[in-house]
Amino acid sequence: MKLATFKRGGVHPADRKELSKDKAIERLPMPSELIVSMSQHLGAPATPLKKKGDTVRKGEVIGSASSYVSADVHSPADGVVTDVRKVRVASGAVADAIVIKCDEEQSNPFTESYDWRSESSEELLKLIRAMGIVGMGGATFPTDVKLTVPMGKKVDALVINGVECEPYLTSDYRLMMEHPEELLEGTMAAAKILNPDQIIIGIEANKLDAAALLEEKISANGYPIRVQRLMMKYPQGDEKQLLKATIGKEVPSGKLPLDVGAVVCNASTAFAIYEAVRFHKPLIERICTISGESVNNPKNVIAPIGTKFSDLIAYAGGAKDDLVSLIGGGPMMGFAVADPDIPMVKGSGGVLMLPKMLDDVSFPCVLCGKCVQHCPMGLQPNKMFRNIKYGNYQAAMDLGLMDCKECGCCAYTCPSHLPLVQGFKLGKKLGRKKK
Ligand code: SF4
Ligand code: SF4
Repeated sequence: MKLATFKRGGVHPADRKELSKDKAIERLPMPSELIVSMSQHLGAPATPLKKKGDTVRKGEVIGSASSYVSADVHSPADGVVTDVRKVRVASGAVADAIVIKCDEEQSNPFTESYDWRSESSEELLKLIRAMGIVGMGGATFPTDVKLTVPMGKKVDALVINGVECEPYLTSDYRLMMEHPEELLEGTMAAAKILNPDQIIIGIEANKLDAAALLEEKISANGYPIRVQRLMMKYPQGDEKQLLKATIGKEVPSGKLPLDVGAVVCNASTAFAIYEAVRFHKPLIERICTISGESVNNPKNVIAPIGTKFSDLIAYAGGAKDDLVSLIGGGPMMGFAVADPDIPMVKGSGGVLMLPKMLDDVSFPCVLCGKCVQHCPMGLQPNKMFRNIKYGNYQAAMDLGLMDCKECGCCAYTCPSHLPLVQGFKLGKKLGRKKK
């Protein structure tokens, strides 16, 4: 069997998926309190529509998209607003959040089934926007914006991202194993909007059972979808690497997949599209992996957006005594979290508990060139880092800093344990300010 991959750079970290791979999705009982951030998407934060003391119903809009690149936020529960305050999420972003005390009895308003196939593409796009769907692979780009093809452009390929290349995370894998029909239906709804020449689902070799199951369902339904099996290689889940691996196209610096005729959509997003068009259900919950060597009972749970990490950890049997590092997301691109009460957002695919710090003590650069060799974007991380260290942000940007995906391949291979990615994040921020 031929396995495709991208050529330039990349690394092969131990995948550690065995900790949670066989853990079927469980529904988290509704927490007593949810903290729903107004900044759960790329773009302008939503504007809060509720104040302290207001009653909220499950699925009701509580935050309104404040610009085109923004997304509505819906209440994940029936309850009462107890506070509207600034809250930090795992990425470090601080925004208004609506705090909801959840009712003991919860309604189930999304049971009516709609015939989305009779809707026009425009109506489907409106519905996806109204349901607050954003990319759930971590980038959280508003999905309706991504699926809007500018006049004169044609989509050659819709690529569904079932790669999940971050170690430990298995939420997309469980979704593909437990809800293949729904995922495929969501994919067909996206395809109806885009009218692509080809539809591909990219899946890595550590999930071949999911690939086979999807192929079986594709064949049974007669869908024009192809499953592309891929070698295991990080960061293949990044849009640019995935497109290189699946359709052989390179997205040039500063350009988007659409510029090469492609749209990439995460597997969980395809499922959210299904729920939006089939049941008119907003994005109010998601599947999240709780894993790592320092959690007692790793799990995959479906939890309401706004659930505190501490509630997820408690549901997974709590942390072991050796817990040192709490991470929101995967170990490569995730964020170290100091406060376990921060809330899940639409892009939260994982909560990890690890017995060691990700960042050890660092030493001077030994000019080994490993970071250059493994950078999938063809950058020179050592030179960019040196320039940032000495405040030469423009020089770092001239070396392609803005093309850095913050994938962490350079830091993973650096024998000096230099905090390269933290440096690039800071360099981008300060470089933009100086412009
Ligand atoms: S973090 Fe940036 S510089 Fe480092 S390997 Fe990834 S893309 Fe290259
Ligand atoms: S991998 Fe680390 S030590 Fe080697 S050249 Fe890059 S920054 Fe320097």
